[in-house]
Amino acid sequence: MPDPFLTDEHQLVRNSVREFAQRYVVPITRKMDLEDYYPRDVISELGKQGFLTPSVPPEYGGPGLDFRGSLVVVEELSRYNPTLGFIAEIVNDNIAYALLRYGTNRQKEEILPKIASGEWVASYALSEPCCGSDAAAIETRAERRGGEWVINGKKMWITQGLYADVYIVFARTGPREARHRAITAFLVRRSKCIETSPINVMGIRGTGTSELTFNDCVVGDDDVLGKVNEGFKIAMVTLDLARIGISGVALGLSQGVFDEVLEWARTRMAFGKPLIEFEWIQFQLADMKAKLEIGRTITYKAAWLYDNKDPSFVLYSSIAKLYTAQMAVEIARDGVQILGGFGYSKESFSERAYRDAKVLEIAEGTNEVQRMVIYKILTKGLPEVEL
Ligand SMILES: Cc1cc2nc3c(=O)[nH]c(=O)nc-3n(C[C@H](O)[C@H](O)[C@H](O)COP(=O)(O)OP(=O)(O)OC[C@H]3O[C@@H](n4cnc5c(N)ncnc54)[C@H](O)[C@@H]3O)c2cc1C
Repeated sequence: MPDPFLTDEHQLVRNSVREFAQRYVVPITRKMDLEDYYPRDVISELGKQGFLTPSVPPEYGGPGLDFRGSLVVVEELSRYNPTLGFIAEIVNDNIAYALLRYGTNRQKEEILPKIASGEWVASYALSEPCCGSDAAAIETRAERRGGEWVINGKKMWITQGLYADVYIVFARTGPREARHRAITAFLVRRSKCIETSPINVMGIRGTGTSELTFNDCVVGDDDVLGKVNEGFKIAMVTLDLARIGISGVALGLSQGVFDEVLEWARTRMAFGKPLIEFEWIQFQLADMKAKLEIGRTITYKAAWLYDNKDPSFVLYSSIAKLYTAQMAVEIARDGVQILGGFGYSKESFSERAYRDAKVLEIAEGTNEVQRMVIYKILTKGLPEVEL
């Protein structure tokens, strides 16, 4: 059946990501989880194939796919390895997109090709120990000294923070009371002024999640991304898009669980017949499939609206994120149940997926934050969106 939101080209992209994932990604998936192993070589390979920044145009080293194309990449990677899907989503939607949209020509020419090719690892550093949901309250400061900016403060939960060569750092450039009106985004190269400290996380292990401490990091005006005191807008605009991307992780993860569970139900025998012949199992599979199709439809609708420059994409982005994150947790939990003891072992995809899924309800804005966004749009209408 033709997909209303996807073209034949998107399908070809899906096929090539699948081939790539089976060859390079599946073999390292368990190691990443068990050893918290960061597969820099595979991430570089993702870059070479254009899967790290699918939306970046060819002049900056990417394949220049539309947003649905990048969503297909993230979804398909996550079907085999949600952790790599999560990394690709952040690199494309939060980082490359911020640079493409707000970067100067010099910033784009110098940095984007290196990120796109996988030569440089990049991080998006917004959250802090003090505050994640209330991002307008961040405390990291950038102060003007002798014509330069000096950054001090701490960031928390930063994906790839341990390994990044370059960071997008959101810092306060005015009084705390000014909240979102006094935040600026900076491009900061890795150097001795940045201390990194690993965080031992429950799922999506192998992403180099880190706490960062900035000790008198000096950057110039050339390193300001966008305009001074307009960094919060960059954070919000990138999050609007990233919420669709992270829904792609939820879809792929859930599909991976569904694939494993369906195969298991067909072959696992109990009481003299395959599990799939029991009505409870059939209903569970039907529920999973229904949830997946609903989630996929909302998510690709959000991406289609974005590709077609329709500002209502911001509403669907939060709806997709809220729905698919909860869906992924439910599908992974039910998957583990159907797999029985095997589902509780490190041998099963669903065990890892159950832990991985939980972060989808937290990162890029919690479930509660999505509800706040949806309710605000309900009562105040759509925000002004530049497309
Ligand atoms: C593995 C992982 C990777 C991450 N990667 C990154 C990254 O690369 N870059 C980055 O900047 N951040 C990253 N984050 C941080 C993530 O975005 C934050 O954890 C998230 O925004 C929540 O912030 P918080 O942890 O400070 O929780 P808090 O904001 O303290 O929230 C705690 C709880 O209170 C709820 N809550 C807060 N305010 C309200 C309210 N007004 N009404 C109702 N409920 C409320 C929240 O929904 C949540 O349930 C990552 C997090 C994790 C776990």
